[in-house]
Amino acid sequence: MSAVKLPIGFAGPDAPAEEDLYKCVHCGLCLQVCPTYVETGLETESPRGRLALMKAVSEQRLGLTPRLLEHMDLCLQCRACEAACPSGVPFGRVMEQTRAQAASRTKLSRRTRVARWLAFRVLLPSPARLRMAGWALKAYQRSGVQWLVRELRVLKPLGALDRMEQQLPPLGRFFRVPRGGVVPARGKAMRRVGMLSGCVMPLAYGAVNEATVRVLARNGCEVAVPRGQRCCGALSAHSGDREGARALARKNIDAFLAAQVEAVVVNSAGCGSAMKEYGELLKDDAAYREKAKRFAALVRDVSEYLAALPLAAPTRAMRARVTYQDSCHLAHAQRIKDAPRAVLRAIPGLELVEMEEADMCCGAAGVYTITQREMASRLLERKMGHVAEAKPQVIATANPGCMLQLAAGARKKGMRVRVAHVVELLDEAYE
Ligand code: SF4
Ligand code: SF4
Repeated sequence: MSAVKLPIGFAGPDAPAEEDLYKCVHCGLCLQVCPTYVETGLETESPRGRLALMKAVSEQRLGLTPRLLEHMDLCLQCRACEAACPSGVPFGRVMEQTRAQAASRTKLSRRTRVARWLAFRVLLPSPARLRMAGWALKAYQRSGVQWLVRELRVLKPLGALDRMEQQLPPLGRFFRVPRGGVVPARGKAMRRVGMLSGCVMPLAYGAVNEATVRVLARNGCEVAVPRGQRCCGALSAHSGDREGARALARKNIDAFLAAQVEAVVVNSAGCGSAMKEYGELLKDDAAYREKAKRFAALVRDVSEYLAALPLAAPTRAMRARVTYQDSCHLAHAQRIKDAPRAVLRAIPGLELVEMEEADMCCGAAGVYTITQREMASRLLERKMGHVAEAKPQVIATANPGCMLQLAAGARKKGMRVRVAHVVELLDEAYE
């Protein structure tokens, strides 16, 4: 994020609240869980250091200088610090608000503004445009143009675009919303749930959405996939576009509340965490405040939902050594670590092995691999070292960004390891 004007202090409705910033008592318990501090050893790249900088801005001792914003931009928003903090500093919220201040009060470069407009205002709000972009990318991959572009390194001078291209997973079958927007339960319907289809998931990992629907149906759920739903807004909010995130949140609230479901099941940890916080995001919106709270109380990660059921017993054994990578927004933001492991342990024959630092960020973090390539690579290197020690045949995880990053790490290291979503493994065990 580049800034040329230097506003002093925070201002406006999305300013970090002083009471949040002043909760920090400088104990340092968050330091050793912070990936950027662990990698650099620098106070300025730690949660405590970042909070000190935010306080300095809040007290008008520092401006939102480009140098200061670099320390904010290096934060992964993994929220490991939030889970470790005994004082209850809501780090995710204050970092999101600081980025919103940077996005709205500093002058962004023309290229950044265009990229943000395209991503947050043109593509993410429209499932139809996202799907068109998905088809165009699929044609690009299958026509051989991608091979040519990579061989000739045509995009190399374009930096970020080249990195995005390198990250592109092979696109398979896209997830299609079922006819009528509802999939019946297998057998007698015992409950009715909604499912978030998502923005990246149906295009990059359509098979995960299909597996989620099958697993829920197998467990007596009628699954509604409302057509009016949109992207959850997490990418917009994390990048400082809180207004864009609010617009998307309102659409989702309307779509799912109208579907009259007992739970909104989400298979992407980042989306689930954002949706559980709609109440906070819309607390100043008189028309949506109550609905947002009601909606947020319905949101469940898919493993959280399944682990609370009397789970239908898997019928097929899976002879595989599996390690689980905690997705940050499931482990730290939603504080869910046991449920995905419980689902994996329910699969007969599956050997669950823990790796070191399973709950440390793999470096995916939304668009972090593009904006902070060096730190993302360092964290991935660290993660793949732990994977190698655990010697799994499968890495299971709970978020599409983690799946992309871990698959890229395995490719880079030439490791013969499959990356799968927890719910995909359970689905296979039902077949
Ligand atoms: S753990 Fe919490 S209170 Fe302690 S230094 Fe970190 S943010 Fe501050
Ligand atoms: S959110 Fe993650 S990267 Fe950012 S300060 Fe907290 S622990 Fe460090």
